[in-house]
Amino acid sequence: MFERFLPKLRVNSVFDIDLESLYAQGYRGIITDLDNTLVGAKAPLATPELVEWFEKVKKFGFKLVIVSNNNLDRVSKFATPLNIEFVHAARKPLGPAFRRALSMMGLAPKEVIVVGDQLMTDVYGGNRLGLFTVLVLPIASSDEGLGTRFNRRLERIVKHRLHKSGLWLEEENK
Ligand SMILES: [Mg+2]
Repeated sequence: MFERFLPKLRVNSVFDIDLESLYAQGYRGIITDLDNTLVGAKAPLATPELVEWFEKVKKFGFKLVIVSNNNLDRVSKFATPLNIEFVHAARKPLGPAFRRALSMMGLAPKEVIVVGDQLMTDVYGGNRLGLFTVLVLPIASSDEGLGTRFNRRLERIVKHRLHKSGLWLEEENK
């Protein structure tokens, strides 16, 4: 039962995602988490490196929507200056926000990857809908709120179980 929390791919950061290969495999859309995936949970704006990454994503031909459990103020202050569409207060891992992002992009689940730093919300939610899930390492986990810290505890249990089943091969804290 823990397989549902297993990402299809694990990378250190969004910059390590092989966009070219995913595009060649037929993927056309990226649903990405915001806090601790794109920037630290307390960082209001994108870094220059990230702005460049967004341009690269667009140039490859991917559509991109930010789907965040955070509030309108936080998400719009980050996304609006970059002209990026978003869904806030998403209640991941529940399905509606993911489905909304799919319809904003006009894409089918099999064409879309989900990027996030949390197993319990991003990966589980994406897997439930049959999206290609990519787990990144959290950028600054010390900035996390109560809800996320609770999810991290669950994450440790899930990783331990996956590790025991031979599905999670590296150190548990990775
Ligand atoms: Mg996050």
